[in-house]
Amino acid sequence: MPLPVVAAHGGATSFKDEHHSDIEKAVKKAAKTGLCVLDRGGSPLDAAEATIHVLEDTRLFTAGRGACKNAEEGIEVDALIMDGKRLESGAVMAVRDIIHPISLARYVLERTPAYQVAGRGADLLYNEMIKSGYRREPEPRDTSLPAISSGCDTVGCVIVDKQHRIVSASSTSGWPGKLVGRVGDSPVVGAGVYANEVAGATCTGKGEQILRISMARIAVNHIEEGRSVEEAVRLVMKVMRERTSGEVGLILADGEGNIAVNFDTKHMPTAIGYPGEEIYYSLKPKWSSEYT
Ligand code: ASP
Repeated sequence: MPLPVVAAHGGATSFKDEHHSDIEKAVKKAAKTGLCVLDRGGSPLDAAEATIHVLEDTRLFTAGRGACKNAEEGIEVDALIMDGKRLESGAVMAVRDIIHPISLARYVLERTPAYQVAGRGADLLYNEMIKSGYRREPEPRDTSLPAISSGCDTVGCVIVDKQHRIVSASSTSGWPGKLVGRVGDSPVVGAGVYANEVAGATCTGKGEQILRISMARIAVNHIEEGRSVEEAVRLVMKVMRERTSGEVGLILADGEGNIAVNFDTKHMPTAIGYPGEEIYYSLKPKWSSEYT
């Protein structure tokens, strides 16, 4: 497959018909933004952060500005970004009411010795990040209940650049009414997100089910064992069906830019972009580069 490639999704869930067109625009824009960043010489980490930013900025998904409230009417969000080449990641968990947790996750990766920072520590780190000028405070500052969420819809992406470097990322506010302090799969390395030099995965859906099988890691493991991305996602979803109640989805990419998507929910809006080609988009992707 041609490189680079950017694959982005808006969650494995169910969306009402009237929002389908806005969702299509947002997810396509996210993939396009990632490609533009790479085209201008940005790194795959830059591209992943920019791709997720676009999705966090809409109020269409339960992430960023669309974050949903927990059992105490507060907002706590999670995000993870993983650099496959360095085998290093940054994650924030249950950080309170910020719009771009993906940037804070990147700050953890680039500027701290930690890989995961949770709760109050992440809140403090956010203030430090803004003060240091690493990223600016977004305007307006507010988040609010999403207009359209029915359940939950994390956002995520996988990037493979021309040098075959892979970055995977995810951002979410988890489930409406979740326990205060509840953390799902999204900011957990190997569960919601994984990347190494061979492949990268980003998962979405019921975090408690994803955690049970370390979904992202087993997907990447199949590629390490020589399977195609298509076969890998099929096997992951088979285990998911056999061992859990599912309601999940994933995007998997290998270092050659082959991508496969699989999910067992009604929708998983996904956009995949290669340079110079029209962005592929589907609300119900049955997509594998093996078919192209
Ligand atoms: N996996 C996320 C969580 O459980 C939710 C989602 O992907 O929609 O927090």
